[in-house]
Amino acid sequence: MSQTEVSGMKATLVPLATLIGRELRSEKVEKPYLKYGQAAVAKKGEDCFLIKTDCQRTHSNPSTSFSVFAIFDGHNGISAAIFAKENLLANVLSAIPQGISRDEWLHALPRALVAGFVKTDIEFQQKGETSGTTVTFVVIDGWTVTVASVGDSRCILDTQGGVVSLLTVDHRLEENEEERARVTASGGEVGRLNVFGGSEVGPLRCWPGGLCLSRSIGDTDVGEFIVPIPHVKQVKLSNAGGRLIIASDGIWDALSSDLAAKSCRGLPAELAAKLVVKEALRSRGLKDDTTCLVVDIIPSDHPVLPPTPMKKQNILASLIFGKKTRNSVNKRNKLSSVGVVEELFEEGSAMLAERLGKDSTLDANSGLFRCAVCQVDQPPVEGLSVNSGPFFSPASKPWEGLFLCAKCRNKKDAMEGRRLSTPTVILW
Ligand SMILES: [Zn+2]
Repeated sequence: MSQTEVSGMKATLVPLATLIGRELRSEKVEKPYLKYGQAAVAKKGEDCFLIKTDCQRTHSNPSTSFSVFAIFDGHNGISAAIFAKENLLANVLSAIPQGISRDEWLHALPRALVAGFVKTDIEFQQKGETSGTTVTFVVIDGWTVTVASVGDSRCILDTQGGVVSLLTVDHRLEENEEERARVTASGGEVGRLNVFGGSEVGPLRCWPGGLCLSRSIGDTDVGEFIVPIPHVKQVKLSNAGGRLIIASDGIWDALSSDLAAKSCRGLPAELAAKLVVKEALRSRGLKDDTTCLVVDIIPSDHPVLPPTPMKKQNILASLIFGKKTRNSVNKRNKLSSVGVVEELFEEGSAMLAERLGKDSTLDANSGLFRCAVCQVDQPPVEGLSVNSGPFFSPASKPWEGLFLCAKCRNKKDAMEGRRLSTPTVILW
């Protein structure tokens, strides 16, 4: 692509610096409209989805509204998918402090998503059921989009310049070397299915359990190294808006991100979702549950759909935005370089302590600490901070640093392959 063409593309976009500048000068930036559509064809009947457009950051204050769109692709039954659909949002919101500003709320959201995913997993496992589910969970607040995901359902962003980018990471053992190393280090075995005669078939799986995914909610019977800790990415769109396509692997096994975006450009969201599903079925047949949500984030002064972008811009996009497989990538990277989207946050580590920060929450009035995962208040003697190991030294203070209750601390150790062989130490 020539320099002239690149410059030409930039000229059609609203520069992000302009948008930020307006906000800094306290000029009112209108909230975008959301238009959305959903389509699904079931094979096993284990996909669920959630659309909730009436959420509020502050109770009874419509000006603090935000929306949630999510897909849950269940396996070995549908109960984990249904449980996550019914409980995950509340668990995420319970981990965000009350009475904070919008900026603070958006800043707290990635950490709260991690806590909410882990809490939901612990609660489901306590039910003693064996199914599991992927989760791709999208929070849209104004122009800011935050995506948390475990498993291989995917969320892509198609922006007006024709730039298609992946907002999730596929947690598939076959395709993710970093996850294979983590599972093996935590005590799992990674290999293919052995059939009669000793030949290996199918994708890489982890054993015990034989799951192809390295992260999920549920899966009590598989092993704690299959963790519920999500990859989280937060981006801010320019006021040109964009389209999100959220779908289960029934779509992505048939269509690349670019093809899915291209197959429905210029069409209203409802029709677009149907067309993406139809296109996937046409190319691969009905091999799996196939669910698709399309969400258009549209400028309020621009109620018509953006025109179909030029073909050459799509080629540029596919060159710039190759599929990422790393769990942790540099923040503020490629997307922002074309002025379409600002990357605010991205983190994919499976280590809970890295995701929840170092600070404990102490209620000055009650003297109680709050567990960073399940949000239960406890005196420090009932739990342990992550700083204290199984061989607690009386010289150190166990409640300094991130505080987890005994149950969540036990979960953390189990996920890292270090479950204590004795019950959690109660101090004093
Ligand atoms: Zn807890």
